[in-house]
Amino acid sequence: MSAATLQLKQIIHQSKTSSKYTHMKQRITVAKGDGIGPEIMDATLSILLAAGAQIEIDEIEVGEKVYLAGNTAGIAPEAWDIIRRNKVFLKAPITTPQGGGYKSLNVTTRKFLGLYANIRPCISLSPFVHTKHPQMDVVIVRENEEDLYAGIEHQQTDEVVQCLKLISRPGCEKIVRYAFEYAKAYGRKKVTCFTKDNIMKQTDGLFHQVFDEIAVEYPEIENEHWIIDIGAAKLADTPEIFDVLVMPNLYGDVLSDVAAQIAGSVGLAGSANIGQECAMFEAIHGSAPRRAGQNLANPSGLLQGAVMMLNHIGQNAVAENVQNAWLKTIEEGIHTYDIYKEGVSTQKVGTKEFAEAIIRNLGQKPSNLKAVTYGKGQALHLPVYQRKAPQQKELVGVDLFVHWSGTDANELASLVNTINLSQVQLTMITNRGIKVWPDGFQETFCTDHWRCRFKPVAGAAVNKQDVIELLQKAEAASIDIIKTENLYAFNGKPAFSLGQGQ
Ligand code: NAD
Repeated sequence: MSAATLQLKQIIHQSKTSSKYTHMKQRITVAKGDGIGPEIMDATLSILLAAGAQIEIDEIEVGEKVYLAGNTAGIAPEAWDIIRRNKVFLKAPITTPQGGGYKSLNVTTRKFLGLYANIRPCISLSPFVHTKHPQMDVVIVRENEEDLYAGIEHQQTDEVVQCLKLISRPGCEKIVRYAFEYAKAYGRKKVTCFTKDNIMKQTDGLFHQVFDEIAVEYPEIENEHWIIDIGAAKLADTPEIFDVLVMPNLYGDVLSDVAAQIAGSVGLAGSANIGQECAMFEAIHGSAPRRAGQNLANPSGLLQGAVMMLNHIGQNAVAENVQNAWLKTIEEGIHTYDIYKEGVSTQKVGTKEFAEAIIRNLGQKPSNLKAVTYGKGQALHLPVYQRKAPQQKELVGVDLFVHWSGTDANELASLVNTINLSQVQLTMITNRGIKVWPDGFQETFCTDHWRCRFKPVAGAAVNKQDVIELLQKAEAASIDIIKTENLYAFNGKPAFSLGQGQ
């Protein structure tokens, strides 16, 4: 055992026996993960315990070893029991082996445990950590369960694959409300929503609509919506104009890495994954296998996750103490290799020495960086989503998707017109969403994946039996239908997209 390890163990022992905080101990689940995981977890836990965190630790094994032992989920059933019982999970990064159908443990954990909110604060530590954005202080609140990450994908024709983008009202309400409640709890002034609802009017349109509905419940907090493309550009250019940002899953995944990197380094950011019952806290970076076992890695990302965990379990004074000691250490220029810079840093240290410096600084506040005060906040408890009264839903047409390897839409229209019913008829064909019949452009590039839209003729209606009849006629005419999508109106309002150019 090295002298540094021995010293850390002594500190942990002392903290267990002489804590000045009087909380009930909270059992937490800890996974040390792979690569640099064990080193940064040991460093993080030593800091928490030295600061007097009232935690009891149940350690579980997840990640590479579990995957390679034949468990494609990377976690054993007994480990789930411990995570579900303790409800609070501090996880170091893991290595997902390449190939072999291994499922991402992160995505599985988020979905199984309903961890709908992913919170990532990205704050500049300028001038002690280099950034082009010294005023940046942004929190990204990312929807964590749905959107394209539902992972529902199909190949439908030789040329076309699809991924379903699922956005739900409960999903939107929960994440948007979380963003506003977070802003309220942490004294933030503004919540900004990013979507692409000028293009995706149904899915991103719902997210934006719910944002507008919920924003009015928080008149004390400013709100605004940006189209994601210009929003992302502004975030990368002038992040200081943003405060709390809320967005659907994919955009949040991409932009939270951008935000963390431009704030200083992805190696400095932590994240919280919050659900109604359970929560998971982690660093945002991976297991950096090439740095493993060398006492090189920066434990700051995981420590930031752990500070969020302490706030979540109501140990705010300990969280505050750890965060201020960390800020003080950063401003003293005691830096790991990844943020070390000649002229700014004063000492290049390893993982353990960095942890020891933070422990020495416990009880102190930074002099130049802004010290934090966390008040008495605890986990944000949002009301459980209540299903709304059903709307009036009416079938108003059907899209039949056809696999056809011709190129002339007029030819396909002649073929598909043969299955028309007297009261339900072909009205439009699109290819990748663009109208190609009637009155298409010959310049439009077409794949082998065609959408044929059937609507009732004036004065008629359409029912499910008509859809079945259309499918039967298509089968008899050897038209290869790959899927159908019913067209509905909700409360009298059409709830599907038009063809582009329609
Ligand atoms: P990575 O984040 O592990 O490493 C990228 C580079 O960043 C490293 O080479 C290293 O130079 C640097 N780095 C990252 N964290 C650091 C730290 N704490 N201190 C100092 N330097 C640090 O990304 P990767 O190389 O793409 O992925 C490696 C493995 O991690 C893969 O198996 C991947 O699947 C996994 N991963 C896991 C998680 C997770 O468990 N949450 C997240 C991302 C990636």
